[in-house]
Amino acid sequence: MPAPLQEHRFPCDMCGSDLRFDPAKAVLQCDHCGNVQPVGQGDTARPKIAELDLRRGLAQNIDAAEMEETRVTTCPNCAAQVEFDPDAHAAECPFCATPVVIDTGTHRHIKPRAVLPFALTEEVARDAMSDWLGSLWFAPSGLKAYARKGRKMSGIYVPYWTYDAQTDTRYTGERGTVYFETRTVMRDGKRTQVQVPKVRWRPASGRVYRFFDDVLVLASRSLPKRFTDALQPWDLTALEPYAPEYLAGFRAEGYTVSLDEGFDEARAHMDAMIRRDIRFDIGGDRQRIHAMDVDLSHMTFKHILLPVWLAAYRYRGKSYRFVVNGTTGRVQGERPYSAIKIAVAVVLGLLVAGAIGAVMATQG
Ligand SMILES: [Zn+2]
Ligand SMILES: [Zn+2]
Repeated sequence: MPAPLQEHRFPCDMCGSDLRFDPAKAVLQCDHCGNVQPVGQGDTARPKIAELDLRRGLAQNIDAAEMEETRVTTCPNCAAQVEFDPDAHAAECPFCATPVVIDTGTHRHIKPRAVLPFALTEEVARDAMSDWLGSLWFAPSGLKAYARKGRKMSGIYVPYWTYDAQTDTRYTGERGTVYFETRTVMRDGKRTQVQVPKVRWRPASGRVYRFFDDVLVLASRSLPKRFTDALQPWDLTALEPYAPEYLAGFRAEGYTVSLDEGFDEARAHMDAMIRRDIRFDIGGDRQRIHAMDVDLSHMTFKHILLPVWLAAYRYRGKSYRFVVNGTTGRVQGERPYSAIKIAVAVVLGLLVAGAIGAVMATQG
């Protein structure tokens, strides 16, 4: 039996208005009547967030209880899958500011296991963004003002996968030892002795073990990876078991990178770490790896949501996007350049160079 459609709406007990999750107080807040409702587990001991079996996940053999169906709209420009209020008819894609027509399509997907709730309010995130823009002297002043006073940033829960695995790797390779050979060469018509470095290679083989915990992979392509990578680190120890209340007043993006695509990326990361371990295990001055046989076990995964404040602006025909980590305030975005500011700087530079030249000439 399919899971029921998740509407993710939380009407206020007192007045029926929509509640929103308040990052400053970590409660559900009614902006209409001021009512406050608790969310999550409160101050009880943090429950362990269970992982799901990866082999079953990759075989698409997941319990119906772990799946959910949500109403999503796909952006025609950037392909983001975003949940919008069902009673809104038209909206803007929060990732690229393209107008989208809300459709009533539903999307069945693996339910999030955990969520890192927003800890920074929109005002704090916007201050962080305008400070960041202010630190870029070459950014157009108009854009800075627009970002400071402009419309609100969108709070988006961005989808990620995390992968765990125990790895046991047998390898064969070679260990290289550097030694020097003395050679006699002719230099300036004289016989001279020089030291030439050489490498002696010996076969090497062995076994390395490593447990990977929560290898994090972005499960969407709506934001450039260089943006989201720059928002790290994420404190995954602060993850809360998923409760849709955390999403009240925010948007959650559906994952568009599948579980197996994400696992390919996680494997590439794991293999790079294992190669490093093998080189260390081989030792010596140089290492060659001929073969590695990685045995994976205890493979699990989670689908998690991480909080990002996002602004997409169209300013003088160009679009700019800025992202702020919703827990740490770290900022990343398109670096805007003001052609006029740069031109003025170049002219000033030439004037300074000219002035120095003139001074030198009079003194010389
Ligand atoms: Zn209310
Ligand atoms: Zn879009």
